[in-house]
Amino acid sequence: MRRAACPGSFDPVTNGHMDIVERASRLFDEVVVAVGVNRSKSRLFTAEERIAMLEQACEPFSNVRVAGFTGLLTTFCAENSIQAIVKGLRAVSDFDYELQMAQMNASLADIETVFVPTSPEYSFLASSLVKEVAGFGGDVSGLIPGFVNERLTARLAERGSGLEG
Ligand code: ADP
Repeated sequence: MRRAACPGSFDPVTNGHMDIVERASRLFDEVVVAVGVNRSKSRLFTAEERIAMLEQACEPFSNVRVAGFTGLLTTFCAENSIQAIVKGLRAVSDFDYELQMAQMNASLADIETVFVPTSPEYSFLASSLVKEVAGFGGDVSGLIPGFVNERLTARLAERGSGLEG
């Protein structure tokens, strides 16, 4: 069984994330979308909300499941018999950090990182930018799943203009 993790904070999940998850699901027997649950970081959505949205988005893919993790990703991978980490690369600016992280993870544990080039239509897409644009009233409906857009609009309305990164 070849099993991969797609890690991230997913605050909230975007079409760019789902493009990578879907492509990973075709490369591996099983994909675990690993949601970082780091309490020190301020998020617009709680870990439970981020996981619930991902579970809904991943419903069409029978070999994809969603799990939260704390601490080191390599520990989570070892505990779940995950051999590879799949990361999307958007631009050269992603590369330096992702290469460093891949090499660190390989030195910590026997785990391979597989880089998947982002689809051109999603190369500018990041959760942080989606929140910022939506916070100023921009239309992000083409960039995130419809049910996520509804929850984002509701959350931003609850919080007034207060964005939390
Ligand atoms: P953000 O979306 O704000 O960059 P995440 O930590 O949730 O933050 O992203 C998790 C991972 O998902 C990234 O490290 C990257 O591998 C992948 N990813 C995110 N957005 C895209 C995108 N638009 N295209 C391809 N991969 C992406």
